Amino acid sequence: MKIETKAVHAGHLNESTRDVTAAIHLSTTFEKAADGSLPGGHLYARPSNPNREALERALATIEDGAAALSFSSGSAATLGVLHALSPGDHVIAGTDVFYGTLILLKSLMSNWGLTYSQVNMQDLSAVEQAITPKTRLIWVETPSNPLLSVSDIAGIVAIARKFDLAFNLTTRGLLVACDNTVATSMNQRPLQLGADITMHSVTKYISGHSDVLGGALIFREAGPLFEKIHAIQREGGSVPSPFEAWLTLRGMQTFPYRMRAHSENAQKVAEFLNKHPKVEAVHYPGLPSHPGHQIAARQMTAFGGLLSIQVKGRQADAFKVCAAVKIFTHATSLGGTHSFIEHRKSVEGENGRSPENLLRLSVGLEHPDDLMEDLDQALRF
Ligand SMILES: *Cc1c(COP(=O)(O)O)cnc(C)c1O
Repeated sequence: MKIETKAVHAGHLNESTRDVTAAIHLSTTFEKAADGSLPGGHLYARPSNPNREALERALATIEDGAAALSFSSGSAATLGVLHALSPGDHVIAGTDVFYGTLILLKSLMSNWGLTYSQVNMQDLSAVEQAITPKTRLIWVETPSNPLLSVSDIAGIVAIARKFDLAFNLTTRGLLVACDNTVATSMNQRPLQLGADITMHSVTKYISGHSDVLGGALIFREAGPLFEKIHAIQREGGSVPSPFEAWLTLRGMQTFPYRMRAHSENAQKVAEFLNKHPKVEAVHYPGLPSHPGHQIAARQMTAFGGLLSIQVKGRQADAFKVCAAVKIFTHATSLGGTHSFIEHRKSVEGENGRSPENLLRLSVGLEHPDDLMEDLDQALRF
């Protein structure tokens, strides 16, 4: 079955009322039978709830995973993976890993005793050289946010499996997790390339309407790793509410078609900006000039809706563009129906990696001609 069909049907709740659109189950507790068993299959809303269960089943289905877990945000999902590691373990991430993920590694998980290295993930030998006997996780983010750098998922998985043998780690000793937020389940399948887990900020394309904060992990196997993170989710309780689970499933039904339009529009906008005299560089894996284009073309079916540009000028000129747009909204986040533009360096602060003249564009579902016209009139600094 194809993803469009799965996206419509996978979250169905089997209810006696025969609702086509699921009801929202707000109850935090569920009646037990006389013998203490749970006829409805649920005990209490932290461990499980009908809407969340439906969402998790749907998430696993659209990405052909064995199981999925949903969280209250993408960052909570990432934290779920990091909490499954032990003090002393070492993590490898890209030099341009999403800023929020870096904060988790740098500020929160260092108290837990995790260590990490940042490497150029485009250089497989640099990844290999960064591995130590304590390395337990390689965190791949491709394409990256906001520089859209592309990493070779299968190549990184092959390195991890080689070290499993070298370190004599039993099953899946060196995990590969892939932040699939920017590419999405529609355009990229890291689990099929051998990754153990994919992570999504569901806040972005899967829910798709800038009205849900959510995260997800999808697992290649429903084994001990899944069980461990399931316990973290269940006991820690960083879970979406029934309404958020419901909204995410509502968004998911149109996700494959939205994603096609995002990718198509972004390709047009990227090609237009690539020829624009006020633009110094366009970072979009769909452009043949992008250094990761060939790998992207191999591991992605389309190139997604996110791109970034460097204007010919300084920070002040980039700000002028944000002030001049009329259809793009000057706002953070990505993956919604509305197009967004944002100056990343001022969000990331002084330690951020984004160049001062960089603007990130989330290309929405408006007509691409209107978006290009808007950018053209805004690029007049
Ligand atoms: C937004 C985002 C996150 C964090 O997700 P939240 O839902 O904001 O917590 C992680 N990775 C990437 C690539 C993102 O774009």
